[in-house]
Amino acid sequence: MMALEAIKVISGAGAALEGRLLIHDGLAAETRTVRIGADPGCVVCRGQRG
Ligand SMILES: [Zn+2]
Repeated sequence: MMALEAIKVISGAGAALEGRLLIHDGLAAETRTVRIGADPGCVVCRGQRG
């Protein structure tokens, strides 16, 4: 699943999980995504996403 995300980011195809966290519960066979804002104190993502 993460390899597919890497391919999407590199190729620009489809909708990547940028700014979202994918949660897969294998026991319940459920998958959901939650939005995650940038951490203002993070040197990597601050100012890129709110
Ligand atoms: Zn960050």
